[in-house]
Amino acid sequence: MIPDASRAAADLRAAALVRPAIAALAGYVPGEQPQGGSWIKLNTNENPYAPSPAVAQAILAASTGRTLAKYPDPAATAFRERAAAILGVEPDWILCGNGSDDLLTILVRTFVGAGECLRMPYPSYILYRTLAGIQGSAVEEFHFSRDWSLGAGFASPLSPRGEPVKLAIIANPNSPSGTLLSPATVREIGASLSCALVVDEAYGDFASTNCLGLVRENERVIVTRSFSKSYALAGLRFGFAVAQPHIIRQLEKVKDSYNCDALSIAAATAAIGDQAWLEQNRALILATRQRLAKGMRKLGFDAQESEANFVWCTHPTRPHRADYEALKQRGILIRFMHYAGWGDGLRITVGTDEEIDAFLTGMEAICQQTPHPK
Ligand SMILES: *Cc1c(COP(=O)(O)O)cnc(C)c1O
Repeated sequence: MIPDASRAAADLRAAALVRPAIAALAGYVPGEQPQGGSWIKLNTNENPYAPSPAVAQAILAASTGRTLAKYPDPAATAFRERAAAILGVEPDWILCGNGSDDLLTILVRTFVGAGECLRMPYPSYILYRTLAGIQGSAVEEFHFSRDWSLGAGFASPLSPRGEPVKLAIIANPNSPSGTLLSPATVREIGASLSCALVVDEAYGDFASTNCLGLVRENERVIVTRSFSKSYALAGLRFGFAVAQPHIIRQLEKVKDSYNCDALSIAAATAAIGDQAWLEQNRALILATRQRLAKGMRKLGFDAQESEANFVWCTHPTRPHRADYEALKQRGILIRFMHYAGWGDGLRITVGTDEEIDAFLTGMEAICQQTPHPK
């Protein structure tokens, strides 16, 4: 063990070596990923089911012979052709990434320079702020209204300091709320802004509608999608962006040459090809989402109506952090979120029916053991 004092001194020396923007960065902290143990894991919005069987077949096929001896297709052509046919766009409207986090990195690097402004709603996906921080960019966190709508100010082309906003990112459905801005609202925001608008649809497959159609209407609108949630492939790392071809060509300059490996391209191509699996999985998740929200309301929580694969819950009097800790002691992991200047709450991923029943049973016992009367 290195003594704390010498570790702190070493950290200070390293901070003096790196760029000031990096030294100032807190660093993005992902949700807990315990390795081993028998957790009921409802904290990072993974899909509780196995992916389409076509995925394993595709990975096996791509790992035989000499495929892995060669570099992968830098353009991921097979995936783009398959996805384009399903989404109703042309292949050159698609850019693939090593998870949608990779695409977000590419987008921030492409559009926002050091000292320039990125706008995001708050509370939302914290990674946007981290990416802006790495870039040395300024972040304008625009607070959601209490009903999770966005005031007109979000669509202003200028930051509060009077500088042009260079990129706006909206997670839609939003995390942690699970709420959705309608395509009509996003259309208005996109038209009013004069910069690129990224609509992060990591949870889009669980929602009642999406903003893909806006990409055709507005060359500044870019939609990103992930395979981590709706395709049950968080361990694989694959996502894609949809934008007009001349925008995609700019993004291609910024991405790593081989940002997607041969196995993930083959697997994602097979996964998106199995739309029957997606439909079936979506139906299961949506039914269990209803069961989860109902169960939490019965226990006195406010459960936000969700368009994603998680439910945001707050309680008028109970201490959210203590409930999270008590559940953890019972082997159930959910996400406790605290947003400075906003408040806190619990974000619970939609698991299987069995997992959600176990969670609700645990939560009920905790509520009985530590009642917090209003
Ligand atoms: C999970 C998530 C992502 C990241 O998806 P990956 O494809 O796993 O990188 C992006 N945006 C939001 C809002 C998410 O919740």
